[in-house]
Formats: sequence, C-alpha cells, structure tokens
Amino acid sequence: MSTGTLRIRNPATLETLAELPVASADDVSRAFSRAREAQALWEPTPFRERAKFLYAFRDILIDEQARIADCVSAETGKPTSEVYGNELLYLCDAIGFWAKHAPRYLKPQRIRPHLLKTKKVVSVYSPVGVVGIISPWNFPLVLTIGEAVPALMAGNAVVIKPSELTPLSALLGVELAEKAGLPRDLIQVVFGLAETGEAVVDHADIVSFTGSVETGKKVMRRAAERLIPVTMELGGKDPMIVLKDADLERAANACVWGALMNSGQVCTSIERVYVEAPVYQEFVDRVVKKVKGLRQGSGNDEVDVGSMTSDAQLKKVTSQVDEAVAAGAKVLTGGRPNPNLRGLYYEPTVLIDVNHNMTVLKQETFGPVIPIMKVRDAAEAIDLANDSSYGLDASVFSGSREQAWAIAQRLETGSVCINDSLVNFVITDAPMGGIKESGFGRRHGADGIRKYCRQKTIVTDRFGLREEFPWFPASSKKTRQMRFLIELLWRSGWRKKLRAVRHLRAK
Ligand code: NAD
Repeated sequence: MSTGTLRIRNPATLETLAELPVASADDVSRAFSRAREAQALWEPTPFRERAKFLYAFRDILIDEQARIADCVSAETGKPTSEVYGNELLYLCDAIGFWAKHAPRYLKPQRIRPHLLKTKKVVSVYSPVGVVGIISPWNFPLVLTIGEAVPALMAGNAVVIKPSELTPLSALLGVELAEKAGLPRDLIQVVFGLAETGEAVVDHADIVSFTGSVETGKKVMRRAAERLIPVTMELGGKDPMIVLKDADLERAANACVWGALMNSGQVCTSIERVYVEAPVYQEFVDRVVKKVKGLRQGSGNDEVDVGSMTSDAQLKKVTSQVDEAVAAGAKVLTGGRPNPNLRGLYYEPTVLIDVNHNMTVLKQETFGPVIPIMKVRDAAEAIDLANDSSYGLDASVFSGSREQAWAIAQRLETGSVCINDSLVNFVITDAPMGGIKESGFGRRHGADGIRKYCRQKTIVTDRFGLREEFPWFPASSKKTRQMRFLIELLWRSGWRKKLRAVRHLRAK
C-alpha cells in the first residue's frame, strides 16, 4: 500500500509535472521479490544475449532522444543541450562499453599459486542478485539507468530508488528498457523519500549509493545491520590549480565549463580555484568575461546555464555566497538568485578575496559559483587543495606536464585531470570515485562491474595423491619436516639457512 504521493515540479517554471505514488516498505519488498524471480531467469543468459537486449535498448533511447531530453530537462531545469551532451551521450556510450567489455572483466581468472603448484586455482564472478541503486537528482538518467547497465550485464536484477525530485527520467528509462524487450521486473523503479530508500537498503544484496555524505553515512549504518556491501559516491569540493606557465585561455574555458556545467550541480564540479600570483589577474579577467557572456534560461539548446533543481540547494548557494560577502569576499559577476527568471535560477557567479574560513571554500556548494584565490606558488596551492574533508576530483593546469604530474601525485583525491576538467567521468574504462568523505568504491573500469559480483575462488587438486602432507595423522616426524621446510623456504640468506637446517638435524 502506498503512503502518499510525490509532486514533481519543473524547477525552471515551477509548474507541476506529475504526481507519483510513494512506495511503502511493503511495496519495496514486493518489488524485490519480483526482481529475484526475474534475476533467476536472467542469470543463466549468456553475455551476448544480455548485450543484445542492451543494444536494442540503446536503439530505442536514440529513437526517443527528444522525448528523453524534454523529460530530463523538465524535472531538473537543465537545458536540453546538456541532456544530449551529458546524459544521453554518456548512456549510449556506457551501454556499448559494458555490453562489449563485461565478458572480459568477468571471465574466470586463472591464478598461478606461488607456493602450491599442485593446485589449479580459478577465480570466478557471479552476480550478487538484486542491486539497489539509490540516486540523487543532478543526473537523473546517468545515475539511475547508467548505473544499472553494468549491474544488468553482470547478471543482476536492479531496483532503482531515484531522487524524490527527479523520478520521471528513471521511470521513462525503465519503460523504454521494457519496450526494448528486457524481461519484466528485471529493472524496476520505486518512488519515495528516505523511508523508501531505507526499505531498498533492507532488501538489496548490494547498495550502490550516490548522494550526500550525510545520507551516505545513514545508508552505511543501515547496511551494516545486514552486512551487505555498499558503494559510496558522495560529495566533492574539487579544487583547480592554475600555475603561471599554464595556457590561460584553455584554463579559463575549462574552469567556466567545469564549474558551471549543470549549474554547478556536478559531484566533480570545480568548486575552488587556486591561481599562482603572476597570472592571477589575467586568469580572473578571462573567467569573468566568459561568465558574463553565458546565457541563462530553460529548456532549449541555445541556453548555457539552466536553473537549480531544488529549493534547498538554491537557499544553500545563496547563503554561502552571502556569508562570504559579509566576511569580505567580492562578487565580480552574479552573486544572487536571478531576478529576471521565474524558476530556481542562481546567476553564474565569480567570487574573489575568499579564504578557507568561509563556508564557500570548505563545504560543498553544488551551484554555479567560482571562488578564486591567489596563491604564492604550487606548494601553497597543494596545501590548500588538500585542506578539505572531501577528495573526489581535481584539475591542474600547467605548461609542464612533469610538474602537473608531480602535483597530481600529491593531491588527496580519487582522480586528477591535467589541463582538463570534469572529463574523467566519461572515460568509462577508468575507475572513478572518491577518497576521504567523498566515499569509496569505484564506478567504471573493472571495479565498476566486479562490484556487482560475488567473487569465488575454486581450487582443484591436480595430482590426486591419496593424502597430502599436512593431513592427519600428526606425527613428530611430520613436524620436523615442516620445520625444515620453513627454514629452507623462508630463512633469509643461504648461510643462515644451512646453519638452521644443520641445527635441526643435530637435534
Ligand atoms: P541526498 O543524499 O539528499 O539523497 C540521495 C538519495 O538518497 C535520494 O534518492 C534520497 O531520497 C535518498 N535518501 C535520503 N535519505 C535516505 C535514507 N535515510 N536512506 C536511504 N536513502 C535515502 O543527495 P541529493 O541532494 O539528492 O544529491 C546531491 C548530492 O549527491 C551531492 O552531495 C553530490 O555531490 C552527490 N553526488 C555525488 C556523485 C558522485 O559520483 N560522487 C554524483 C552525483 C551527486
């Protein structure tokens, strides 16, 4: 039985888009039971069959691009150009990637033991069962259906709990997946708030959580009760470092896009910029000029920056900027909710004269704000970049790849882009994820699919002797032989080895 409804609103126009029933704990439990039945039939399906379903799904996504773009844009407030450029592009590529590479990542691995050469050892992967995906609102297709693709290719069923603000994209994705012929109930979506998410944690075999640090901790605590694995893709406060030998035009372009794409509501958005003193002013001037040229608005492809998605987020951004200004920060452009637009718009903003006592440099902002700090040198930039509880992504701009590489090694983050921004998310071959309070577990690459599997080691005896050396019965002769063996194999240095063996024989 449902326990209420969710009203979904277009944040750019404030119009109501839909009302959806909230899934109760019982509804979620039933969804998981159906998913388990579907999974039992899906697991024996060979990889190439699974891939066929996904390719058919991709064709339907391509047929329905315009409908998808309108749906995602309507419930998030992002321009349709961003839906094509981020959500659809990613999803179409990810489907091909997992369909092609899943068999390679999940094929049985032969392990050659260094010691027990008499054994054949193989490690095999099997699906965990039903994957619970709990998602935020900033990429309602990528972080729901996109995350489901590797789970499905690994032979699992999936139950998605999308954000209460943006469930329509996942719903459309599931509808199109079924239209493509994916077995019924293999991929389902349940709507609701925290209680629905909790029920997902209570039934899933693994929880793939993407969201805030605060909620991530709650999910982990609950998952601990059942000892189920979780992956945590949490927030970020990603730094960008610009050195004096950087290509400033490229750095400024990358900064504006990396900080303002999706209205700054990206986990890997550039949220703070440290620029070496000699090029600080020129960099700031270039960034401000570019930001002033951006077009803000909703819906269509001729808009650069859309609206925020949630009221709470708009309030948070406003309060962080206001607090910084009260403490001495200077707004070079933007700095307020857009008074000319009706929805949840915050003007693209550049802040200078900021410091690490300000919330805008300490906590995640998740909005269209670029705080820029002047630094003495690379060492100061590294210290400031690492002065954060988060550790997701970072960018370093320098004319010297060696120097940028050396800085990248010292940054406390899960990834670093050199002379680039945001790009690592779309490189599906490479592991993506955070350290520190940005979470753990990786999407993409081998870990991005193996995390949805149980790994089993199968050891086979190769020679069929009637008994093995350490088996019963125990005897002092066997113990003596064992001690010889230990000396022979592991005592360092031949002289010491021989002395020890002689000593044992003399006993
Ligand atoms: P959120 O933590 O508020 O919510 C995330 C999801 O968790 C929602 O579906 C919500 O309904 C659900 N939820 C809430 N309480 C729950 C509970 N007690 N148990 C189970 N589920 C519960 O996050 P948000 O505001 O939707 O998203 C913004 C956050 O997501 C930002 O911090 C952002 O950095 C992060 N994010 C991270 C990544 C990444 O890959 N690291 C990607 C996108 C967004």
